[in-house]
Amino acid sequence: MKVTIDKYSGFCFGVVYAIEMAEEELSKSGELYCLGDIVHNNMEVDRLSSKGLKIINQQQLRELKNCKVLIRAHGEPPETYHTAIKNNIQLLDASCPVVLKLQHTIKEGYEEIRKLDGQVIIFGKEGHAEVQGLLGQTGGNAIVISGEDDLEKVDFTAPIYMYSQTTKSPKAFSDLQQEIIKRKKIANNTDSVKFIVNDTLCRQVSGREPQLKEFAKENDIIIFVSGKKSSNGKMLFQSCLKENSKSYFISTKDEIKTEWFTEISQVGICGATSTPRWLMESVAKKIEQI
Ligand code: SF4
Repeated sequence: MKVTIDKYSGFCFGVVYAIEMAEEELSKSGELYCLGDIVHNNMEVDRLSSKGLKIINQQQLRELKNCKVLIRAHGEPPETYHTAIKNNIQLLDASCPVVLKLQHTIKEGYEEIRKLDGQVIIFGKEGHAEVQGLLGQTGGNAIVISGEDDLEKVDFTAPIYMYSQTTKSPKAFSDLQQEIIKRKKIANNTDSVKFIVNDTLCRQVSGREPQLKEFAKENDIIIFVSGKKSSNGKMLFQSCLKENSKSYFISTKDEIKTEWFTEISQVGICGATSTPRWLMESVAKKIEQI
């Protein structure tokens, strides 16, 4: 049985940057707070926690004073920065540059469209950390759309600027865009009401999708390793499953089942942008033992 780890799977540069920043601080002081899970992977969070990383939530941040807090790759809304100033907290800001650029673009777009009595739509998961950071750029006034059902929150007779959480699927983004065009036509009987679509998907994720599909086809079975909270993990796993029905989602090597490997000659191991390489390697080792 041949076991191959996909060479493109694993941390994206945004996650690498945040983890490097955390490790550097931990090696100096042995203690660092991080607002939310540094990465959507429990195994990696546990590894860093054993070095002194302490995961906190917004409520705990408000109670802290005179310390250092890491902002992870997902970014934060402006209120977090205000709290830090008020409480004399030094922020180690590891917000991913792609997310920072998107925050800036949405802020500008919101300023523009509010003058036209229009709306900002963010295609993303309600409550997701990155989406909270994006919402904050509009004072909480953007409309978060997680799927077609949420479109009832939109006024199709008013102008719309559309954006996306960086890790959404390009196909789902495009389908939603087409549905909005359709509903706008019905509501207005004309195409003249402004609708600007900003493709703000991260190419670190969407660029992996076609390549991952090829990888899924090349192997008899796919073991997809990811934290259960990872948005891009869910999205990329679905892409694998479409190409190869023998695709299995696991978060730890203990979830591997021996019966999956009966009459299999090629095993492919891959993962999300939040999956550490060491975890995929430990999964490969366990499968080789089987
Ligand atoms: S997936 Fe893209 S936007 Fe998100 S942290 Fe990684 S590089 Fe940045």
